[in-house]
Amino acid sequence: MNIPKTSTPRIVIIGGGFAGISLAKKLSKKDVQVVMLDRHNYHTFQPLLYQVSTGALEPDSIAYPIRKILSQYRNFYFRLADVEEVLPEQKKVKTDIGELSYDYLVIATGSKTNYYGNQSIKENGMAMKTIPQSLNLRSLILENFEQALLTDSIDEQDMLMNFVIVGAGPTGVELAGALAEIKKGILPKDYPDLDTRRVQINLIQASDRVLQEMSPVASKKAEQFLEKLGVHVWKNVLVTGYDGETVSTKSDLSFKTATLIWSAGVMGATVKGMNAEDLIVKGNRIRVNQYNQVDGYEDIFAVGDIAAMSTEKFPDGHPMMAQPAIQQGKHLGINLERLLSNKPMKPFNYFDKGSMATIGRNKAVVDLPNFKFQGVFAWFVWMFIHLFFLIGFRNRMVVFINWAYNYIRFDREARLIIRPYKKST
Ligand SMILES: Cc1cc2nc3c(=O)[nH]c(=O)nc-3n(C[C@H](O)[C@H](O)[C@H](O)COP(=O)(O)OP(=O)(O)OC[C@H]3O[C@@H](n4cnc5c(N)ncnc54)[C@H](O)[C@@H]3O)c2cc1C
Repeated sequence: MNIPKTSTPRIVIIGGGFAGISLAKKLSKKDVQVVMLDRHNYHTFQPLLYQVSTGALEPDSIAYPIRKILSQYRNFYFRLADVEEVLPEQKKVKTDIGELSYDYLVIATGSKTNYYGNQSIKENGMAMKTIPQSLNLRSLILENFEQALLTDSIDEQDMLMNFVIVGAGPTGVELAGALAEIKKGILPKDYPDLDTRRVQINLIQASDRVLQEMSPVASKKAEQFLEKLGVHVWKNVLVTGYDGETVSTKSDLSFKTATLIWSAGVMGATVKGMNAEDLIVKGNRIRVNQYNQVDGYEDIFAVGDIAAMSTEKFPDGHPMMAQPAIQQGKHLGINLERLLSNKPMKPFNYFDKGSMATIGRNKAVVDLPNFKFQGVFAWFVWMFIHLFFLIGFRNRMVVFINWAYNYIRFDREARLIIRPYKKST
């Protein structure tokens, strides 16, 4: 990989997501060599992926070059590489561009879509975990309307204009709200010769409330917001399959649709190696101790979505969200410095700052540890927080201008089929 071997310890970080970047920043002034490996050359701000899928934002406003983040630091190296295996006995990682040795290894590979073994949904459904997937979804949504214009069959039109979203967590709820707004504000103008009142947005949840991880009051309000926007919310419905036309459920209920969007779960994106069977716990995450050290390895750590640190409050690990990832990354930076100075590491303590979701214009729900609120103010808080956490001044400005423009004009101008999406048959 052409990375110089120096006398300073080499810390290899796999993954430039929230956890990997926070760790790298924390190590910036330390006397170590840091090598970051990622299969993408950019960091993705996943919470806004649904805005790319629905044409509110261009993908480049929620992505940021990893090299640019790291270029300001000494002793930092980035390689565009897919890590295939960890070889702990040799203290090396094996990648598609070669092998690299490490003194300390940090696995920050995040998570991937969990289909719970359902092959038909994996093959025929749409996921929204990466920028390319969001662009696929954007193209498919628009292509459906273009196709609906070309057919006289009402059944076919209905199928093309029916969007089924499975999983009513923040991603599903936000996407459903955004689609409902498109139905109301954009489709009648773009497709005047199509009866877009027949567009349906069905949001399906296996449990008895939307936003299951938030407070009951947030769930209730979010459901009211969704219904006000015309979204059909189905609770206690378990989806069992999708053949590309029909969504089947455990009951008699079924849906005819050309688009199923799967937002019902994620699982750790593990890497081969390290006695995986013993280490992988619920959610396909790697078991770590309170210092984020992978069980049984003194020199391998895991942070973010991939790490399952069992605590009293979170026996199955912290929520797979940005805050635990950021906080673990920062904390590991401190601990690695302590480790290198022969000081004892400090246990990680998660500071829960709360959670939030937006359902649409002027509609959001916010749960803070001691205060819960919903509506217009919550929506402004949601926007401010998301702008604040976006990486890069340009991205913040671009997103802010886009949002202001969309708000005033009731528009989403990035409704472009740049890269047509063709469903595999
Ligand atoms: C659609 C969506 C909406 C979300 N909304 C919210 C929200 O509103 N609030 C919130 O708190 N959280 C939200 N999340 C969750 C949040 O984005 C994750 O919890 C967070 O990104 C986890 O950070 P991470 O650093 O662990 O992993 P990631 O940010 O996923 O980063 C992992 C990195 O590792 C790289 N990688 C993975 N495997 C390999 C490999 N083998 N080789 C090389 N590179 C590899 C990936 O390319 C990626 O860059 C959302 C997630 C999604 C998908």
